[in-house]
Amino acid sequence: MNATMPPTKWTEKTQPQAERPERAEVEAAVRTIIRWTGDDPERAGLLDTPARVARAFEEFFSGYAQDPVEILQRTFEEIEGYDEMIVLRGVRFESHCEHHMAPIIGQAWVGYVPDGRVVGISKLARVVDIYAKRLQIQEKLTAQIANTINDVLKPQGVAVVIKASHNCMTTRGIHKPGADLVTSRMLGCFRDNPLTRQEFLSITG
Ligand code: ZN
Repeated sequence: MNATMPPTKWTEKTQPQAERPERAEVEAAVRTIIRWTGDDPERAGLLDTPARVARAFEEFFSGYAQDPVEILQRTFEEIEGYDEMIVLRGVRFESHCEHHMAPIIGQAWVGYVPDGRVVGISKLARVVDIYAKRLQIQEKLTAQIANTINDVLKPQGVAVVIKASHNCMTTRGIHKPGADLVTSRMLGCFRDNPLTRQEFLSITG
């Protein structure tokens, strides 16, 4: 991505309060942060850093410009009555916490029981990425993935489990490397039927 990328298409739920700032404003803000840390943004090693940070942020937060509903809309109905659980396991993702803008690195397990139609499996991974590449808390990320699949596919049930480590607590603050956070959201048959839930949870290990 570069300066000519199309204007960000914000989804309804993330409607910003103001216009998207220009790239130059972002680079100026990074120079301010560099000065504030105590370093000199004019020294050779840091001269291109504001532009690099802006490009990195475009990648980290590219999820705002993508619509997960659109991704899930193309479905397949020739499934010979398949109505068992479909689980995409261990989808690695990178996100950033909305409190510190520090990395959240984790894996997601996404399962659903179809009701007459299925979606291409890579689309499930893309939905994880689209929500991950926004400012997040893990609880909201988990719910957004499950709710969107549920709303668009209208399956018999959806289950999402996320395990992730938060750099804001492994590299700063309370400093607890090795600790990870597990969150889950169960909808439909995964919420109502303990056996279905158990089958899914045994898969996530
Ligand atoms: Zn944080």
